[in-house]
Amino acid sequence: MKAAVLTGPQKIEVKKVPIPVMQSNEIEIKVSACGVCGSDVHMWKAGKGWSDQPGDFHMGHEFCGVVTNPGDSKFKVGDRDTFWANLYCGKCDMCQAGQEQLCREVNGTNYIGFVCNGAYAEYYVGKASNAYLLPDSVSDIAAGLIDPLMVAYHAINRSGIKLHDRILVVGSGIIGQMLGELAKKAGAS
Ligand SMILES: [Zn+2]
Ligand SMILES: [Zn+2]
Repeated sequence: MKAAVLTGPQKIEVKKVPIPVMQSNEIEIKVSACGVCGSDVHMWKAGKGWSDQPGDFHMGHEFCGVVTNPGDSKFKVGDRDTFWANLYCGKCDMCQAGQEQLCREVNGTNYIGFVCNGAYAEYYVGKASNAYLLPDSVSDIAAGLIDPLMVAYHAINRSGIKLHDRILVVGSGIIGQMLGELAKKAGAS
């Protein structure tokens, strides 16, 4: 397959790389869309991922695609899936409490496309438990924005915003834009 490999500081090259071999509990998708995150820009500047790994590294953690091999998962060939990039362990106290976003093994960096190859490629292979079925009403491009949207959504949920509150969002990146939109939907101005 072709992948956009990070070959050095500020250098991405499209290279031919092997399609990853599926392990048990994994699925394979043909990637339809993949967002570019601010953290990708940091890795692009540094020319490397979050961990030193052998071989070609490619980023991409905000993505969706069509299932080409469901393995032994609940998915079917042709399903449209998006992935949660958080490689939570499922075993620590936070995971057990349903707070996988605070998994102690993740520690802020253990994400798809940070510590392992991501979806800047034609195919992605990853844990089925991180995959979510997409409804037809969500386009591929919109699905690529679910990752930053859930960050903003979580913040709004925690904020206690009430009808007629006035909100200031500091920072106008994609998550800031989404915070503004969601705050309006929550009744703030
Ligand atoms: Zn991101
Ligand atoms: Zn955990």
